[in-house]
Amino acid sequence: MGQHKCEGFTCELCGSKYNALFGLRRHIQEKHSGNRVSCSECNQTFAAERYLKEHLKFAHTNEYLTCELCGVQCKWEASMIRHMRRYHQK
Ligand SMILES: [Zn+2]
Ligand SMILES: [Zn+2]
Ligand SMILES: [Zn+2]
Repeated sequence: MGQHKCEGFTCELCGSKYNALFGLRRHIQEKHSGNRVSCSECNQTFAAERYLKEHLKFAHTNEYLTCELCGVQCKWEASMIRHMRRYHQK
């Protein structure tokens, strides 16, 4: 049944639906060309997985790194390293 479905086009990669083929094509080109990875939370895409990870950390979690020595909290590993150098360097 349903051979003549005209409900549009579905992206096989992420399930997004478009009612026009050109819309789907543009979507695939924008979202799935190359090795781009997309955030499952907000659909932003990134050129590499490490950018996505940073984005996830920044935009979708409240996770902080805590300095064991003084309790200061940093969102980024890099700023924690900077903090350690600045305040706890022997
Ligand atoms: Zn898609
Ligand atoms: Zn996101
Ligand atoms: Zn500290």
